[in-house]
Amino acid sequence: MLRLTFLGTSAAQPTIGRNLTGLAVRRERELFLFDCGEGTQRQMIRYGTGFDVAAICFTHFHADHYLGAIGFLRTLSMQGRVEPMDLYGPKPARKLLDVMLFTGTEKLAFEVRIHEVKAGEPVRRDGCTLLPYATQHKIASCGWALLEDERPGLFHPDKALALGVPSGPAFGALQRGVPVEVAGGRVVRPEEVLDAPRRGRRLVVTGDTRPCPATVEAARGADLLIHDSTFGDAEAGRAVETMHATAREAAVVAREAGAARLVLTHLSTRYDKDVATLLEQARPEFAATEVASDGLVIELPLPE
Ligand SMILES: [Zn+2]
Ligand SMILES: [Zn+2]
Repeated sequence: MLRLTFLGTSAAQPTIGRNLTGLAVRRERELFLFDCGEGTQRQMIRYGTGFDVAAICFTHFHADHYLGAIGFLRTLSMQGRVEPMDLYGPKPARKLLDVMLFTGTEKLAFEVRIHEVKAGEPVRRDGCTLLPYATQHKIASCGWALLEDERPGLFHPDKALALGVPSGPAFGALQRGVPVEVAGGRVVRPEEVLDAPRRGRRLVVTGDTRPCPATVEAARGADLLIHDSTFGDAEAGRAVETMHATAREAAVVAREAGAARLVLTHLSTRYDKDVATLLEQARPEFAATEVASDGLVIELPLPE
């Protein structure tokens, strides 16, 4: 399973229909949050993501991307959470998050591990890697690529039987990549009975950024790119000034990366109810573009 729930899709300030930035990603047994703007915990209740968050990945420390973690961690503590929580973010993650842990709360009932990440230094999780990469914003910032491990290729029992492998534990060993010795001393190698490994899914979340080559690189062949789209063409100059992207610029990045799908988010209040304009400007550059709304759920299927 790889299920995304958009918890907040507004830039800088919330509107009636859009909360500040937050994205829940449930991958198999782990639930991740990418950014946690004010009000995120209420959105999680509203959209039923569950509270069993294993880690929060921050893209940067502008207030609209992290203040929600204060209340959320406090709620978890009151609910008796005991599992540790990992917080990942670029500088000054340690300084800011350390203060945050004691803001408006006594000591939390569970361990919070703060990890200050550097671009290009992967974070290993269960069955996937979270890779921060450098983006271009007003302050230190990073995008995140979620890269699933390869899956073993399809197993062909008929081939294994023909090579003299008895069904049972030996089948399991081959499927796990372990060679098996059969009667007569011949060793059957996994690649004789398995197809080539299948790639995992790739998801990229830019956070706030100008369009940049690092995103093109990170999103190469991605199943889904979620890109800053604060502005439309009319504010292209503002986008440069404030170091955000326009819908069209995001779409060009998606095209250059060869991503399968683009979702635009972090909308200026001006586009709160006017996503049509953003789509009109983005789709000529990259057809498979959507604009996120709060509560939007996307399930990414496994590639063939
Ligand atoms: Zn922002
Ligand atoms: Zn920002």
